[in-house]
Amino acid sequence: MGQVVKSIKGVHDVLPEDVHLWHFLEGVVRDVMASYGYLEIRTPILEKSELFHRSIGDVTDIVEKEMYSFEDRNGDHISLRPENTASCVRAAIQHGLLTNQQMHRLWYLGPQFRRENPQRGRYRQFWQVGAEVYGIGGPYIESELILLSAKLWQKLGLAEHVKLQINSLGSSDDRDRYRNVLVEYLNDNASELDEDSKRRLKTNPLRVLDTKNPAMSNVVGAAPSVLDHLCDESREHFEGLQASLKKCGVPFEINTRLVRGLDYYSHTVFEWVTDQLGAQGTVCAGGRYDGLTEQLGANPTPGVGWALGVERLLALITDTGHAPEAPAPDVYLVLAGDEAIISGMALAEEIRLAAPEWRVVTNCAGAGMKSQFKRADKSGAAVALVIGEGEMSDGTVGVKLLREQTQQQTVSRAQLMSVLRGILT
Ligand code: ATP
Ligand code: MG
Repeated sequence: MGQVVKSIKGVHDVLPEDVHLWHFLEGVVRDVMASYGYLEIRTPILEKSELFHRSIGDVTDIVEKEMYSFEDRNGDHISLRPENTASCVRAAIQHGLLTNQQMHRLWYLGPQFRRENPQRGRYRQFWQVGAEVYGIGGPYIESELILLSAKLWQKLGLAEHVKLQINSLGSSDDRDRYRNVLVEYLNDNASELDEDSKRRLKTNPLRVLDTKNPAMSNVVGAAPSVLDHLCDESREHFEGLQASLKKCGVPFEINTRLVRGLDYYSHTVFEWVTDQLGAQGTVCAGGRYDGLTEQLGANPTPGVGWALGVERLLALITDTGHAPEAPAPDVYLVLAGDEAIISGMALAEEIRLAAPEWRVVTNCAGAGMKSQFKRADKSGAAVALVIGEGEMSDGTVGVKLLREQTQQQTVSRAQLMSVLRGILT
């Protein structure tokens, strides 16, 4: 035997014992998206690297150092997608979804890839759920997207564990003006900046505010606020969002340091944060990105969206005790010998046909009655159906409740379904 091959660093298997958590989250996501009229889109994991260079921006952590990129045999530069917004916009442009002022409400679920330092809540393959809207300007669609995310927290039992932070970066003119003011301030305080921030100051100064270095919190905390540099129109936009959120009862905080890591945002940006996951406290983040379609070669189209980190959300669900229990079989068939197995498998098919919602497991692997009952018990099933020699010869079935101390009863095949319904519903 050679050495065992293991998975690569920072990527994870979801084992069968945990997958019900993912199903729970995915089910809630599907239902909530549907109830807001959002349609799912599925884009490829592989894209041309150029897509991310042009959308996310060359001076971002993602493009500078986190992408998994390679050259295809024919020389094409390809990357595993590090996020899904750019792919959605690419697909929308490519398939004509953005022509004639169409409006689209979309959502996605899928794995993303970033070569980060793995730690709790930060992986190299991680999953995101996202919502994206094209063709609608103004603050109210931003509010809708936030309401939609708030509905998810409600349905997942997390409403009291996450807080909404919002900010506005204004129009691109506002942003340019603010950038100059900020650069001046940061230059005046250059001695307090760490190496990363000194570099960002030259390439992408707003991102200095995005630092995760606690030693920088004073200098960042005292920086001029972007909100003091908005034009009237941008200020009204931001006030419209706040009015709508208030009317719908969604509490929020304004965080003027919130700029988001990516280049393409304008006007509203927001994050949902928790203090229960340590350093990786942002579970969902998004904003408006009206400039992105133009950056990707199409006519300007309003765009706004968010993405949530599935692993972080699942950790929060588990840590706060909101994880649902793993489902167990309803019925487990204990079958003595080949004849009983053949008969029992046919019976299981009948039960599945009559009650498709039940989980029916047959022990078709043989073994003595005692060890079959042990398997039945370990499976977590509510009921064991037993076909031994006696039952075979008189056409009956033994019914044994596995979670209660009661005697096994014998029922005819004709009675079986009504007896089972009595137990299981
Ligand atoms: P962070 O500031 O934590 O690095 P980010 O700004 O890079 O996050 P986004 O690109 O906005 O994250 O992605 C949206 C969400 O996806 C994040 O809020 C987070 O919940 C999740 N996420 C991002 N990167 C990772 C990762 N490497 N592993 C797990 N989840 C992630
Ligand atoms: Mg990041």
